[in-house]
Amino acid sequence: MPNETTNPRPRVLSGMRPTGKLHLGNYVGALQNWVKLQHTHKCFFFVADWHALTTDYEDTSRVADNTLEVLLDWLGAGLDPELCTMFVQSHIKQHAELHVLFSMVTPLGWLERVPTYKEQQQNLATKDLSTYGFLGYPLLQAADILIYQADFVPVGEDQVAHVELTREVARRFNQIFGRNRAENAASLIKEPRVLLTKTPKLLGMDGRKMSKSYGNSILLSEEPEQLAQKINDSVTDRPKLTDKGSPDRCPVGNLHQIFSDEDRLAFIKAGCTQATIKCVECKALAIQSTEAHLKPIRERRKQFAAQPDVLRKIVQEGNRQAYDAAEETMRAVRDAVGLFSLGSLEQHIPKELAKDRIRVPETVHSAQTRDERWEIRTAEWLEKVSRFYLLRKDKPRTFITRKGRKVGVHTAAERDGHWKFTVEDRALNVLALLAQDSDRYLHDYVLPPKVVQDHWKQFPREEGKVIIEVKKAGEGALLATSQGDVPIHQYEGDYSALQ
Ligand code: SF4
Repeated sequence: MPNETTNPRPRVLSGMRPTGKLHLGNYVGALQNWVKLQHTHKCFFFVADWHALTTDYEDTSRVADNTLEVLLDWLGAGLDPELCTMFVQSHIKQHAELHVLFSMVTPLGWLERVPTYKEQQQNLATKDLSTYGFLGYPLLQAADILIYQADFVPVGEDQVAHVELTREVARRFNQIFGRNRAENAASLIKEPRVLLTKTPKLLGMDGRKMSKSYGNSILLSEEPEQLAQKINDSVTDRPKLTDKGSPDRCPVGNLHQIFSDEDRLAFIKAGCTQATIKCVECKALAIQSTEAHLKPIRERRKQFAAQPDVLRKIVQEGNRQAYDAAEETMRAVRDAVGLFSLGSLEQHIPKELAKDRIRVPETVHSAQTRDERWEIRTAEWLEKVSRFYLLRKDKPRTFITRKGRKVGVHTAAERDGHWKFTVEDRALNVLALLAQDSDRYLHDYVLPPKVVQDHWKQFPREEGKVIIEVKKAGEGALLATSQGDVPIHQYEGDYSALQ
């Protein structure tokens, strides 16, 4: 597998509604392709349980069971939690958050024009679909995709219009809020591309499209007896033995096209088109080929179903990975939209008041030594910051963040406009430099991993210790490196690296 840091694989996002056990149409139409994609792409696959509510909100009694059925089918079919991220949509609240923000900027007409909106309202006339949830589901779908900064969305031809709406939403959002960012506007939310999936044809057992609602499907987890019965009972393309038929128009022929090897397929094709085999023989061979493919899937599925702890861990780990990726996007989005965050609280305090906030009255510290004062200031800072960033202690002055980043916290007092921090030469991801100036104000520069990594070797060493020098420069500050001074005032009070 390629190194994710130096050579990240393109991201793919796709989901399925939990409407029950998957059938072969779902398998050959999507899942089989997902199993291949997990080897070449960074894949996020989610069970779209909120989407199930957009049409079935009146009866939610099966949503939880069906969520698990879908996960079991995925695992049975060969999705590997080591290779891809599997998670449950409703466990990642950021999808709903981004959906709300999108709903603020998306014109109503865009949603009303989605081809499936009117079509489905007519097809599902027995349900009341005059709800916002149903109208807004393509927008929730846009949030599902865009929150993971997906490069590709694997879809069939009929879904291309939905991805186009997603791209339009991304463009509009970037246009409105991207300008609030210092970087290029387009980088706020990535526009995904369609990864067209060629789907082999698979008719239902009555010759219509395979669909659960028609009752003509074969389940991926079908037991051998039911599988044989469904195939034996199926409608074929040759009403009479003497009729010539075509495997293309026959559900049994379709099964051969998907599950039989080349020789068997050639034999069936010749026998069917020239009426030299009986349908009953053809069906027996189709049962054999299909069962050979489904048996290992069914067995893997049963193994996972017997291990709830393993399943729980798979979903927990998938949720964790999805949360991290979604939260990374949302941090940038919240910032671009201009929402208040606790991490940037200091930036919103008027300058004249900010000075008062960090100044420690002389009387409090007059009886203490300089070292004791530093201890108190550091403890004060850590107490405030840890409340929101869940810093876990590792060793003195080294903390671990929720993402496992090592944070070194160091203090120094100003001397002639300079601060000199003496740091152990060990691997740190984040450096929090607490710089006390001559007026006893505390500046806290939280240097993120990229800055630390880029400059670590450029700091001088003294007696095996790393010497980090920060210089005052007007209202800002500069980090001294062997390659020149680097401005760091933008990291003052920016705690995003601590998350
Ligand atoms: S021979 Fe096979 S493929 Fe042809 S119509 Fe009969 S069952 Fe279908």
